[in-house]
Amino acid sequence: MDKAGGLMNFTRNICLSLVFLSLISQSSFAKQKKTTCFPQNRLFLKDDPSESNITEAQFNQIIDKIVAYYKPIVKEHGHELVAIKNWKNGTVNAYAAVNETTKNWEVNFFGGLARRPEVTPDGFALIVCHEIGHHLAGYPFYEDWGSSEGQADYFATQACAKAGWGGNAQKNLKSKKLVDSVAKEECDIQYITTEKRALCYREMDAAYAVAGLFSVLNNDKTTPEFDTPDKIKVTETNPSYGSAQCRLDTYFHGSLCTKTFDDSIIPGLSSKGGSNTIAAEKIAGKNSCMSADGFEVGFRPRCWFKPLIKN
Ligand SMILES: [Zn+2]
Repeated sequence: MDKAGGLMNFTRNICLSLVFLSLISQSSFAKQKKTTCFPQNRLFLKDDPSESNITEAQFNQIIDKIVAYYKPIVKEHGHELVAIKNWKNGTVNAYAAVNETTKNWEVNFFGGLARRPEVTPDGFALIVCHEIGHHLAGYPFYEDWGSSEGQADYFATQACAKAGWGGNAQKNLKSKKLVDSVAKEECDIQYITTEKRALCYREMDAAYAVAGLFSVLNNDKTTPEFDTPDKIKVTETNPSYGSAQCRLDTYFHGSLCTKTFDDSIIPGLSSKGGSNTIAAEKIAGKNSCMSADGFEVGFRPRCWFKPLIKN
């Protein structure tokens, strides 16, 4: 992970709103490798706290709970996981960064994102999971550092939300009445126990809320739905953002993946950083659902992911 690589990542991947640009000096850019959750947008101009589904206390609580779970895991990798919470800032974005000075693995959140009317508390939790995923989700990667956008989304439902919500069966069951019927049917096929089905419903419900925000950000004419998967099939893995539909598809399949992610490893990460090789894909395959291993659902969708190992 060299500084030049980090800067290259910044220039290629980072799109920030104008307000955000005014808040961070050029020197701090050079010291960080980072990737944002959403493309550049001007939704901060529409920040309206009266439309928010989340209070400041919930915003802090959701971040703190997930970060507390992953803090000791990141520690095992020799780093400090640090959450930077900025409720007052109206920017509709979040980002993950490696601070080159402190070596801390940072996740940054803005109130403007949490206050969007499309975002529910559980939807915001998926955003938190996505940012942590840039550090821990592994293959496939952006160049030499964190996980790609699709992988961070996949990790959010395949690993992070399952870890965070798995022990809360009663609350998860409330999603049974809320979840989309197509998603519910798939959860019922994939999982046998009431507990696992309920967890799957909750993840799907959260995913649907966040995907609604993605489509607003993209100015889409249609809303992503569970029964209208993105028809795009990439010829090589896209490390950046897919369509709102593609991101919903990714959350959907992550929720339906029945394999357990091993929290103690960052799949495919070597001592020199991330690399998109067959060897890395094999390790990722041990920790997720791959079509090459016979999974017909639960795999990374083809709208952004092109496996190196042929089926
Ligand atoms: Zn991201």
